[in-house]
Amino acid sequence: MSKFNVQQCPVCDGKAFSPFLTCTDFFVSGEQFSIKQCNSCGFKITENIEDEDNIGAYYQSENYISHSNTSKGVVNSIYHAVRKYMLGRKRILVEKATSLKTGQILDVGTGTGFFLNEMKQNGWQVTGTEKSSDARDFAKKEFNLDNLPSEKLFTLKDKSFDVITLWHVLEHIHLINENMETFHRLLKEKGKLIIAVPNHSSTDAKHYKEFWAAYDVPRHIWHFAPKQMKQLGEIHGFKLSSLHTMPFDSFYVAMLSEKYKKSKLALFKGISYGKLSWLNSIFHPAKCSSVIYVFERSN
Ligand SMILES: [Zn+2]
Repeated sequence: MSKFNVQQCPVCDGKAFSPFLTCTDFFVSGEQFSIKQCNSCGFKITENIEDEDNIGAYYQSENYISHSNTSKGVVNSIYHAVRKYMLGRKRILVEKATSLKTGQILDVGTGTGFFLNEMKQNGWQVTGTEKSSDARDFAKKEFNLDNLPSEKLFTLKDKSFDVITLWHVLEHIHLINENMETFHRLLKEKGKLIIAVPNHSSTDAKHYKEFWAAYDVPRHIWHFAPKQMKQLGEIHGFKLSSLHTMPFDSFYVAMLSEKYKKSKLALFKGISYGKLSWLNSIFHPAKCSSVIYVFERSN
């Protein structure tokens, strides 16, 4: 198996890096991975991970809730209740960002299809790409969605979408610049690109350090803060138009982080710290655990 190691920063082309943190894969393997940071722009990158063809082994956990539908355990139950609420909130955000009530949407890394189903039920023409064949089968069976394998992204027609969404997906994609370039090609002139990713400059990331659940190594290859996300958009012909918070992520990530720390009263502490982190982000979206970035084409 060949490893994926980045020698050049995909955001600023910098070639000098410093060690940042060593994190454990708490979800699947228990292995440790180092995260390095770009000396020029501060972008953070997980080192020495499996390449695209072999990383699948690190996703094979019953705990990997974004691809499963179990509601076992308190954290999962909360996750499922919140998901239902968030689906409506995401749809409203898409409709506000595009000023459209219906249109053509592409959801990249669409998982089990809950979000695209919400959009389809509300009159949108939907296209989804997803790497996992199990998740694609689930979306077909549950919602009759014909989602495409990830590599089909590159074969879609120019300027065919009003909006492209990635909900906690970009941080998993090895070919980040190739994907960003393709999103620009696929969007119509007034199209919007909506990207939600964890924020390593958040209050909770700084508090939990190597236990911060949203480092999620080695599945998260890239670790963003608003400055680097804005810059990545700019090199691909996008202008950042707005930032939005994902309030529930503060709670969910804090609870998981407490669990990883093996804290006593993890749930209680997670909710308390999550609340603090969320309150901090109300007037400062750039401090939220996860941030939604809305981009428009600048050329
Ligand atoms: Zn850089």
